[in-house]
Amino acid sequence: MFCHNCGKEIDEKAFICPYCGVLTDAPKQQSQEKTNILAIIGFVLAFIFPIAGLVCSIIGKNNVEECGGNGKALATAGIAISIVEIAIALLCVVLLFAIPFFAILVSGLPVPT
Ligand SMILES: [Zn+2]
Repeated sequence: MFCHNCGKEIDEKAFICPYCGVLTDAPKQQSQEKTNILAIIGFVLAFIFPIAGLVCSIIGKNNVEECGGNGKALATAGIAISIVEIAIALLCVVLLFAIPFFAILVSGLPVPT
């Protein structure tokens, strides 16, 4: 590639132009091509371990700008799915405790205090 400041040909991976010392476009281009791995992991984990999926998705969403916008939809979906699954899990736990409690009430037995 060529330096955008002095126009001299420089190494593709060079971060700084060796001729004029100006920052090259290399770091920017690399970050734009970067895959948002955490967003993908977060999305997959959301189905298996919602809490881990939620954490990964939030971190992945924070990395979206670094990754040039990659994984934004995935991270958002991962967060949404994780929250829904955690809500369902909490509901199940509540029902699990509530059902025996109501069964005791219905059967007329004294409720243990
Ligand atoms: Zn230069």
